[in-house]
Amino acid sequence: MSYDSNVNQAAKAELERRRKLAEETARRNLEGFLQGCPRAGEIRRELAANAAGAARAVLSGGDVHKALEQRKERGMALRREYEELLGECGLTRRDIEPQYTCPRCKDTGFADGKLCGCYKALRRNLAYRNMSAELPLDQCTFDGFSLEYYRNDPAAYGRMQSILRSCREYAENFRANSPNLLFWGGTGLGKTHLSLAIANSALDKGFGVVYGSAQRFAVALERERFGRDNSIEGTSVNLKECDLLILDDLGTEFSSAYSNAAIYDVVNARLMSGRPTVISTNLGLSGLEERYGERFTSRIAGNYALLGFMGKDVRVQKIQS
Ligand SMILES: [Zn+2]
Repeated sequence: MSYDSNVNQAAKAELERRRKLAEETARRNLEGFLQGCPRAGEIRRELAANAAGAARAVLSGGDVHKALEQRKERGMALRREYEELLGECGLTRRDIEPQYTCPRCKDTGFADGKLCGCYKALRRNLAYRNMSAELPLDQCTFDGFSLEYYRNDPAAYGRMQSILRSCREYAENFRANSPNLLFWGGTGLGKTHLSLAIANSALDKGFGVVYGSAQRFAVALERERFGRDNSIEGTSVNLKECDLLILDDLGTEFSSAYSNAAIYDVVNARLMSGRPTVISTNLGLSGLEERYGERFTSRIAGNYALLGFMGKDVRVQKIQS
């Protein structure tokens, strides 16, 4: 999987930021500790002298074993004293040693001469973010979803209450092999809001999420296919392999034989590999069948939990109120 150079650069910059932050924090804490506690500095010097003395003892011959034992005990006593002083200053060893986000590579991106998993994950998630639509994710939370707009219609209210509950549970329990969801119903009923609330929650848990409209992905897939834009290299792989794909507004994209087939390919690949997808659409199953064919629709019907949204267009109500 190759990435465009912007993604590589951004990933390296993020690693550097993490590394510097960890090292700076530890350095500042250590400085403060040594300033406030001069004895700690003495201990550090004594420990160094003790280690050098141990090396000399080995070279000097004589009763090496005994000399080393003494040095070892002295070293242990000094370290104990040092720990106690740390404790008296309200610190622990973790405070004065860099706490890297990835202890394996110390936030350098390389471990054992190979790219570290943390760097790969960072690069992947940056690529996902680039692919995802610029949507106001932070505004789309479960708490921000108001049932008030459904209050006048008891059937719609009950349905939306239960959908909200299901989505919350889905988000709370989200895992790499969560089930697939299909949100369907008219525009302005909160399908995008709830799918983004799920995306938010999965992102918080550290999952790689790609979200956007079917239109956006259809365009990216066509561009990738016809090689018009290097920056979207990897589109279909990322759509197939991200932990969660939110495919919004399916059926509103500009339809072509190629885009229909490409979207089917993505949805099907995710089903085969057991990766969850949340699709929202204005089309019912019959509308989907008309547009994408029977094969696509039967895959959806058999493998997605269908949530039918009800009510009156919330956006229209907001304008009228
Ligand atoms: Zn790492």
